[in-house]
Amino acid sequence: MVKLGLTATLLLGAGYATAAAIESHFGSHWSRRDIMRARDEGLRLIKTSEEDPGVWLTEEEKFEKFISKKIGFMDITETPELENLRVNRVTSDLVALKAFPTGPTHQSVATPLIAQASISNLRTWANALANFYNRYYRGSYASTSATWMYDTVVDVASSNSAITVTKYTHSYNQPSVIAKIPGTSGSVVIVSAHYDSIGSTTSGRAPGADDNASGVVVILEALRVLADSGYSPKNTLEFHFYSGEEGGMLGSRDVMQAYVTAGVDVLAVVNQDMTGYSPNNVIAVYTDYVDTPLTNYVMTLVPVYSDLPLSVDECGYGCSDHASANSAGFPAAYVCDENMADSSPYIHSSSDTIATLSFEHILQHVKFTIGFLVEGSYF
Ligand SMILES: [Zn+2]
Repeated sequence: MVKLGLTATLLLGAGYATAAAIESHFGSHWSRRDIMRARDEGLRLIKTSEEDPGVWLTEEEKFEKFISKKIGFMDITETPELENLRVNRVTSDLVALKAFPTGPTHQSVATPLIAQASISNLRTWANALANFYNRYYRGSYASTSATWMYDTVVDVASSNSAITVTKYTHSYNQPSVIAKIPGTSGSVVIVSAHYDSIGSTTSGRAPGADDNASGVVVILEALRVLADSGYSPKNTLEFHFYSGEEGGMLGSRDVMQAYVTAGVDVLAVVNQDMTGYSPNNVIAVYTDYVDTPLTNYVMTLVPVYSDLPLSVDECGYGCSDHASANSAGFPAAYVCDENMADSSPYIHSSSDTIATLSFEHILQHVKFTIGFLVEGSYF
């Protein structure tokens, strides 16, 4: 349940907030001039809770205070109005949120597609990602890792000429990558994973194998299977490969702000961040900063489309990119490889290596993802 602050309540009362109302909300904490000046000085606006108006920090301070201590946060410097857009959206009569089905109903379509998923590509892609010294979004390899990401998505999608692949550029030198299988409906179902990584220092070695090469390869393999089969959905299916997650959900916040501003009808977003390290051999579904009906629906798919039992947990504010979709007011869910207590102890270090991954486990996430996309294509 999202707690609405005073300003948000006022906006709710206004029914359909205007640009002027957003402007006045800025004024209650930060003026546009404050934001522009601080940006020019290289400062970043960091939130650590929904109620937090944010604090201005340097990039190094952001790393020392939050990233190195594994404290969840969002960097809202370029997207300070995203949470207000959520309030606009959820109070607008134009938005009628659809109910999700009570469970899976398209196994006859999904099952033969799931049978096409295999481990060999997962290994190849995960090794290529982990072989970057790091994939830090402001580092020396930001751009080269982005080029790999884009080229690989283009290659995977090339078997179906209907699929488009675009780079989404940000204020830093690591674009997000979006592949789109157009449907007969403009409504959109999204699966996502971030491809940047971070180590124990901003320039340190960060193979980012579990966090989050493992999630990226899940989305890539689901795209490969649907592309190779010529799958033609009703709803448009999108595959989002975000940059800058470790910097505070930068890539996903930019994309979600653009989508809500453009009025894109996003039916569901399922994010995966860490899919290959699971001592309990489960698929974990997280229940905070998500949409409860979508999350309950996702929980019905896990035992049908994967061979693994479900685990349920919470991961706090600023946990991963589902939070950006949730901030935008889009139905979001988060699927992971473990509960918090037993998740990989190696992330954000040089020890988050391919050797710690189970590709059998990652394949289970692929099966779930194809199942979700097929079901979602009929929402
Ligand atoms: Zn991650």
